[in-house]
Amino acid sequence: MKNKLKILFVSSEVAPFAKTGGLADVAGSLPQAIKEEGHDIRVVMPQYRQIPWDYLQNLEHQLHFRTRVGWRDNYVGVNSLEREGVINYFIDNKNYFDRDSLYDNKDKHIQFAYFCRAVLEMLPKINFQPDIIHCNDWQTGPLSIMLKENYQTYDFYKDIKTVYTIHNLRYQGVFGKEVLDDVLALHSKYWDWGVVCHDDCINYMKMGIEMSDMITTVSKTYASEIKTPYFGEGLDYVLRMNADDLYGIVNGISYQENDPTSDNRIYANYSADNLSGKYENKRRLQEDMGLPIREDVPVISLISRLVEQKGLDLISAIVDELLQEDIQLIILGTGEYFYEEMFKDIGRRYPNKVAANIRYDSNLAQKIYAGSDIFLMPSKYEPCGLGQLFSLRYGTIPLVRETGGLNDTIKSYNEVTGEGNGFTFKNYNAHDMLYTIRRAINLYHQPELWDKLVRRAMSFDFSWNKSANEYIELYCRLLGINQ
Ligand code: ADP
Repeated sequence: MKNKLKILFVSSEVAPFAKTGGLADVAGSLPQAIKEEGHDIRVVMPQYRQIPWDYLQNLEHQLHFRTRVGWRDNYVGVNSLEREGVINYFIDNKNYFDRDSLYDNKDKHIQFAYFCRAVLEMLPKINFQPDIIHCNDWQTGPLSIMLKENYQTYDFYKDIKTVYTIHNLRYQGVFGKEVLDDVLALHSKYWDWGVVCHDDCINYMKMGIEMSDMITTVSKTYASEIKTPYFGEGLDYVLRMNADDLYGIVNGISYQENDPTSDNRIYANYSADNLSGKYENKRRLQEDMGLPIREDVPVISLISRLVEQKGLDLISAIVDELLQEDIQLIILGTGEYFYEEMFKDIGRRYPNKVAANIRYDSNLAQKIYAGSDIFLMPSKYEPCGLGQLFSLRYGTIPLVRETGGLNDTIKSYNEVTGEGNGFTFKNYNAHDMLYTIRRAINLYHQPELWDKLVRRAMSFDFSWNKSANEYIELYCRLLGINQ
């Protein structure tokens, strides 16, 4: 390797410290993969109350200082912890991060503006001068503009480049115009030029897109989808204008942490060569879920935030028809009240067929990935999606809609050639989905073919190896260096 890059990965959530969705999984595993390629990559996140005590008690205090957020003068503590070879920094301020919720706060525009500023100010103090600052989602949107406006006149900062990754365009960080001056302390020219605002509001996502040197999103299909009004969440014109700087790189998952041969969160270990442990997982899962213990019935599962994005209205439209089939359905999720109640209701009406777990439970999630036969993910849109990757790894066949990362990772089973690693449907249509589920059930009842498909699914490699190298290539391109 010719060049050892220095990268700071900035994320509002990092697994296993704090997680609400896929961003945390990425921030907790991509840096490790980049590190393995020989680069100096470090991660920084807020020090939330929600971080488990096991980690909190091991944090090492590095230093503290004060910084300004608009007119506010705030304490910044910088603590650190090494995990799997990667240094994680935690920005500590009890006023901003000792809260009941990570994001559901009225002053979140201040929380994350503070976070971005603290991150920038910390760098010379910890003596880390990155080549690249890699930002993620709206919470880190203001960082690039702060860097350019307030810091790049100083030598220490002047060569730093920024990459901004969109994990989900729906959540943009939209606030009133007063935030420009009161919180970001930015000149009104930025408002007049339209780079920080959309629809007469300050928009942290747009800021990140407009002011970063390179933009990525988490799959090639989503990168092209978001340039259209249907998927663009109002910002499609911004993405079309910045299309030359926009790249799609599909997410991976950690193949060490998610390994059916050694995972101690599941009931029994297994491999593609010996699937008997998978059937044991199915039996024990059925038992735990209070469902009849039967080997010959397909277990269909769904693990998801229960929000509109995930295509749950398709399920609600056909669920009674679907449950006429001889199947079992296991749900794990939390989210919107309507969908939580919908699944609880289905669970009550079909106690022998449906288990609705309305909670967040990462251990149970793992057991479900291992113990089910089919994993349902009929998303309306899906930037990348990780559930389908976990299920492939555990030999559970994904059934997905052809959108975003689902389109890039799952190829539909071909009954003639035997190719494919799942089942897919294209139109956002409940009966197209039902038809596809029936196709999967039909194959499930041909055990030899099904076993072959399970093994085939497990042979796909969606670890970070390939994608981490794509990120490194982009970093090098941005820095104008040959790898
Ligand atoms: P998103 O980021 O839109 O929520 P992803 O598929 O990218 O969707 O990532 C979701 C992650 O959250 C997966 O790791 C999935 O297993 C996990 N997850 C979602 N809901 C739950 C839940 N109720 N309990 C445990 N894990 C969950």
